[in-house]
Amino acid sequence: MSQKIVLYPDPVLRKKATPVSRISREILDLIDEMTRTMVEADGVGLAANQVGSLHRIFVINTTPHDATPTPVVMINPEIIDQEGSVIEQEGCLSFPNLYVTIDRADRVTVHAKNAFNEAIVYETTGLLARAVQHEVDHLNGVLIIDHVSTDEDKEAVEQWQKNVRPGVEV
Ligand SMILES: [Zn+2]
Repeated sequence: MSQKIVLYPDPVLRKKATPVSRISREILDLIDEMTRTMVEADGVGLAANQVGSLHRIFVINTTPHDATPTPVVMINPEIIDQEGSVIEQEGCLSFPNLYVTIDRADRVTVHAKNAFNEAIVYETTGLLARAVQHEVDHLNGVLIIDHVSTDEDKEAVEQWQKNVRPGVEV
């Protein structure tokens, strides 16, 4: 069984995740579970906060358009360079059926560790660059609703709140 994805407004989504100091058995198990959960949910990415953990880890599926997923894990990720700007619709597994337009960098370079404790440099663009920025946001307690700026998106959030999560303050 894979883990349950934490939905807004669970407070863990607002917490800042802590850097991983040692890649223990527990961390490796968490990575396995996160990967399985992301693939089952058909997500492009998943951050540890979304399964109730506060380790600085996310997974992304680097082949989101293919039948076979290619998950990559990033431990203690840091965006060290970014350029360009693209406005696109974006969703989040913790906000089922909510889509808002978010302005993100088009190209990012990330430094991280992989599960073998090796330093990796990951350069990506388009959808995956968007996913990386989205997941780094999660690790800092930042959510898609924090990026809402247009009246249309404010309305979408209101409707989502009313129809999908009644009683939830956004
Ligand atoms: Zn998300």
